Amino acid sequence: MTPPTPSSSPSESLRLGRATIRDVVPYPTERLPCTADLSDNTNLFGAPPAALRELTTAGRDEITRYPGLHARSLREALAGYAGVRSDQVVSGCGSDDVIDSAVRAFAEPGERLAYSDPTFSMIPVFAKVNGLVPTPVRFAASGDIDPEALLATDARIIYICSPNNPTGSLAARRSVDRVIERAPGIVIIDEAYGEFTDSGRVGEAPEHDRVLVTRTLSKAFGMAGFRIGYGTGAASLVHEIEKVRGPYKENAPAERAAACALREDVAWMRDLAAKAVQNRERFAGALRAHGLDVLPSAANFLLVPIANAALVAQRMRERGIAVRPYPGLPGIGDALRITIGPWALMELALDALLGARASVVTTQPGR
Ligand SMILES: *Cc1c(COP(=O)(O)O)cnc(C)c1O
Repeated sequence: MTPPTPSSSPSESLRLGRATIRDVVPYPTERLPCTADLSDNTNLFGAPPAALRELTTAGRDEITRYPGLHARSLREALAGYAGVRSDQVVSGCGSDDVIDSAVRAFAEPGERLAYSDPTFSMIPVFAKVNGLVPTPVRFAASGDIDPEALLATDARIIYICSPNNPTGSLAARRSVDRVIERAPGIVIIDEAYGEFTDSGRVGEAPEHDRVLVTRTLSKAFGMAGFRIGYGTGAASLVHEIEKVRGPYKENAPAERAAACALREDVAWMRDLAAKAVQNRERFAGALRAHGLDVLPSAANFLLVPIANAALVAQRMRERGIAVRPYPGLPGIGDALRITIGPWALMELALDALLGARASVVTTQPGR
């Protein structure tokens, strides 16, 4: 047998892939060791204590058998937390999986998926891998979503992220209502950072027949490693998503530990979410005091417009602090997204950022 050619050329593999995925770049997941990783908006204060305790009790059957025994209890725990009935919740391998499945469930290849740009970087990818046409529109000058621009695309799926990643902006309730009233297809409202605001529609989604609100246990709840996300909506809507998602997308020990956290660790989560909000405002003040620009945020991160963001991030990385650089965001330019955590980490981040900025400025010709 001929072994596979060790280096089949990229152009060859490009030809193997479907036309719509030719320019899709796999999401970068590499994590280099660092002092503080402020790059992915997870809970930097720690993991929920009841979930950790529950995790240590995994039994033999939970490992050898397919999950299923506990899926119902996760669904019930999610429904109880979100304030909906359990047939109005669909969970998945992260909310990524729920969004991807919804795109597949409700749109035909060739239809459009509209979103305000910039937003969650996976959205154009979910569009392309499902054969849809990613259709970005501008935010309004106020920083709010622009309902008319979204509706004008006539997209089968309109995606609204609120609070929005990476800007931190909240979509005005009236604007979202307008989109829901007039949208020709499905409206997905991504509330991955919903726990950091008082607003949110996770409990109301089932009142509409074509609205899906997604949330996750990866961010405020501190369980990104478990890979559990969920969506709420009318029972008929979540049923369609469940068909497409398929069975066994979550693993049994994570399901059980997550259900436990939803019952017992909510106060823990709320307390830390409040601390993140407090530290966010304090950090924003410190950045502004050093002459940096900061966008108002309703989430556990800040977006800091700054020239040469990739280079600044690299210099911060050399100082042990990982943040996420965004080159050339529409309407914003280069920026850094910085996750908010315990104040001691934010002090390290501030030092690294100021040091990096000084070094980049001095090494940039003409600055
Ligand atoms: C992190 C994130 C998600 C995905 O979270 P999962 O870990 O897949 O649940 C979804 N949407 C936004 C906007 C995010 O930032």
